[in-house]
Amino acid sequence: MLKCKDVVASATDYVDKELSWSQSMSMAMHLLLCGHCRRFIKYFKLSLQTLKNKKTISAENASQLSSEIITKAQADS
Ligand SMILES: [Zn+2]
Repeated sequence: MLKCKDVVASATDYVDKELSWSQSMSMAMHLLLCGHCRRFIKYFKLSLQTLKNKKTISAENASQLSSEIITKAQADS
């Protein structure tokens, strides 16, 4: 079973559909059970789409983005 931090770590690949079948299944299972991660992925997708329209994201930006989104998602709960 994935932990929330695994979801955060794989969020970019998940959104870009670069996970293997079994990884996506674990992710989907976790998202089914975990409202926090569902919200996180929702914000993450939205922010990635916004960013992608503007510029290419580096790995560094992506991880900074993740922490910003986590803060936002937590503030929202
Ligand atoms: Zn979770």
